[in-house]
Amino acid sequence: MLNRILLKLSGEALSGEKKTGFDLDVCKDIAGQVKSIIDKGIQVAIVIGGGNFWRGRTGTEIERTKADSIGMLATVMNCVYVSEVFRATGIKTSIYNSFECGDIAELFVKDKVLDDLKKGKAVFLSGGTGHPYFSTDTATVLRAIEIEADRILLAKAIDGVYDSDPAKNTDAKKYDSVSIKEVVQKGLQVVDMTASVLAMENKMPMSVFKLNEKDSIINAVTDKFNGTKVNV
Ligand code: UDP
Repeated sequence: MLNRILLKLSGEALSGEKKTGFDLDVCKDIAGQVKSIIDKGIQVAIVIGGGNFWRGRTGTEIERTKADSIGMLATVMNCVYVSEVFRATGIKTSIYNSFECGDIAELFVKDKVLDDLKKGKAVFLSGGTGHPYFSTDTATVLRAIEIEADRILLAKAIDGVYDSDPAKNTDAKKYDSVSIKEVVQKGLQVVDMTASVLAMENKMPMSVFKLNEKDSIINAVTDKFNGTKVNV
């Protein structure tokens, strides 16, 4: 039985069909699922991407580190929004950011995060790594290692890990499970390479599944899981 998980939601996941901004119903559904997971006694930390607003590579006319700063700030906006939706659902929350953010979020401190998790709060970890040239994938693995999560839950648009892109190759095969070493060696699309190597070196397992299926997050912490397990 899992004790502590880190759930990664892409920014696009929050925007539903619109692909930009927020879809309230999608966020409410995520909140309902997380509530029932916390009610089971499982501790839940959450990292959210920023792609529903901005990606560093979006701004070709802007210097890269500045473009990445905008991306990191987008992850803060996402966490503030989703945290409020969670609160409306009756979940206690806190937000810890990777850089000073006034009274919007506290600075990430492992001990404080663990205290909140043990109190049954959903803890949002915003701001990515706080550094340009990284991704929220890397922040996800880094924070999961730091808070000693048992497993990362990667909620994606795709239902697992494939040996090639199923959108381009009709013969693409889905893995039920795959080792993180194979992911790195074959360059399989799970998280980016920096994040994959970090997960491999620190033995952090991941479960990859499609968010847009009924009770997908709940199923990912139970035996009903039908995505891909990335083993260490
Ligand atoms: N970002 C960054 N450092 C981090 C995390 C994110 O610079 O540690 C920036 C980067 O520009 C990225 C954007 O924030 O494109 C949004 O994050 P996300 O990982 O969701 O981007 P995506 O994977 O969608 O490009």
